[in-house]
Amino acid sequence: MKQLETDVVVIGGGATGSGVLRDVAMRGYRAILVERVDMGQGTTGRYHGLLHSGGRYVVTDPRSATECAHETAIISRIAPRAVERTGGFFVSTPADDPAFADKFFAACGETGVAVQEIPVAEALRREPRLNPKIRRAFEVGDGSVDAWQLIWGNVRSAREYGAQVLTYHWVTDVLRDGDRVSGVVCRDDVHGDEVRIDANFVINAGGAWSGQIAQMAGCHGVEVVPGRGIMVAMNHRIVNTVINRCEAPADGDIIVPIHTVCVIGTTDVKVDSADDLAIPREEVQQMLDAGEVLVPGFRQARALHAWAGARPLVKDSRVAADDTRHMSRGMAGIDHKDRDGVSGFLTITGGKATTYRLMAEVITNAMCEQLGHERTCRTADEAFPDGEHAKNYTVGDRLAAREADRLDDQIICECELMSRRMLEESLDATPTATFDDIRRQRRLGMGPCQGGFCALRATGIAHERGDIDGDRANELMRTFLTHRWIGLHTILYGDQVKQTALDNWIFQGTLDMEHLPAPEPIA
Ligand SMILES: Cc1cc2nc3c(=O)[nH]c(=O)nc-3n(C[C@H](O)[C@H](O)[C@H](O)COP(=O)(O)OP(=O)(O)OC[C@H]3O[C@@H](n4cnc5c(N)ncnc54)[C@H](O)[C@@H]3O)c2cc1C
Repeated sequence: MKQLETDVVVIGGGATGSGVLRDVAMRGYRAILVERVDMGQGTTGRYHGLLHSGGRYVVTDPRSATECAHETAIISRIAPRAVERTGGFFVSTPADDPAFADKFFAACGETGVAVQEIPVAEALRREPRLNPKIRRAFEVGDGSVDAWQLIWGNVRSAREYGAQVLTYHWVTDVLRDGDRVSGVVCRDDVHGDEVRIDANFVINAGGAWSGQIAQMAGCHGVEVVPGRGIMVAMNHRIVNTVINRCEAPADGDIIVPIHTVCVIGTTDVKVDSADDLAIPREEVQQMLDAGEVLVPGFRQARALHAWAGARPLVKDSRVAADDTRHMSRGMAGIDHKDRDGVSGFLTITGGKATTYRLMAEVITNAMCEQLGHERTCRTADEAFPDGEHAKNYTVGDRLAAREADRLDDQIICECELMSRRMLEESLDATPTATFDDIRRQRRLGMGPCQGGFCALRATGIAHERGDIDGDRANELMRTFLTHRWIGLHTILYGDQVKQTALDNWIFQGTLDMEHLPAPEPIA
């Protein structure tokens, strides 16, 4: 068994874990983050992409609203490359209770969420596809945020302070030395090794899985109820502003423009396991119908991809366990010394991606207190190491970046303007990366053809480099396309059916992909 030693182990490579890693490293601790798959493959990589102004929660969860308002300002400042400041509207459609709008406006004032009522004509001028029958419109400071850019920004910053990240390291045991947690054991799924990491402290940022992880440390009964929600990405930016329905949170009430697409969501269904991420057809139809309420003709756009994520909702005694919609979106920090008599171990879960930094600050403060150290949090003061002139992301950025090298660097993914150099850089940095890992960082195959053209080219380039044999190259392609298909088959209608038929002809008709020599795709 391989052995490592550090001050702090962080379990979980989502927004929260990467934020904790950065905070702990900036306070001078040696830290290692372990993630069972790739960074951002849990809920953070499967969410709606909204950087909340707080408006969504002003009436139902005022504390979360205030936290979101505060954190959105900080994240826009420290992670500019990940954030697009789209702004947001809350609009009262004819289907919404007209009385909610006044309640909403008053609650924004009480919770510190900046809001301004604007004339309906002004909202329609700025978003011409909006339902012309809306009765009132309010402007707020919503934005959209690329989850993977946010996570990797935290990682780059943490690495500058000496932290390490071990992906595909699945924690199978949390070690105890009497009443104290003393480390973890992981299974390294890339190299097939077992790895033991001895540490003074372990922070559990396992999101919807954090109850299972606490259990490994002998801390029983941490109930995290997974609330599954689906989202559907449409093929272009039907709107350029985040559009929210001005009503109590409900299914399909928000459209988020992000990169070249916009995303409608979401649902909220209690499931037994955070790994149960089914995408029921009826929920897809429900999302498309909900889109029509905000933007008449919504269904005429192409639905590109659907996905599901599991909210880490900590069981709330005020709300029935199957009513995940009404459980608090607030964070839950658990001190296992107080709760279970186990020191050196803390859990941080619940919350939102928008509040990840605050969650990291709260739990790192608790760790310092338990260790008797006085070290101040600086994560709100220092931006990610993206260059001192980094500005907030805009949708034209990738196009502008291509201008410089468009004549000498081949484009391999036209939909997302991804170049050969970008692919090669990713393979150089992580020779064991899958195409899905590269997609999460570079957006390979995320556009309208869903990998139809770029998967083939990426496979050829990977094989041509010489360090990947034919079987491995075939496996990369088949696994990538199998995963794209999970988010495609429940949404097929209209032009996307023609696209999928073409893609199928390329891969089955010309390549006979099903019979290529390669291991079975990973499900
Ligand atoms: C449908 C939906 C839409 C949402 N929309 C928004 C939104 O628009 N804006 C917003 O701010 N929030 C949104 N949220 C909430 C937000 O996505 C989550 O609160 C947040 O991403 C949780 O981050 P996390 O890091 O705590 O958990 P995760 O991102 O799930 O990270 C936990 C990690 O732990 C890893 N892990 C689990 N077990 C182990 C193990 N044994 N060993 C090693 N690693 C392990 C997992 O693989 C995972 O990567 C949404 C949630 C859902 C479900």
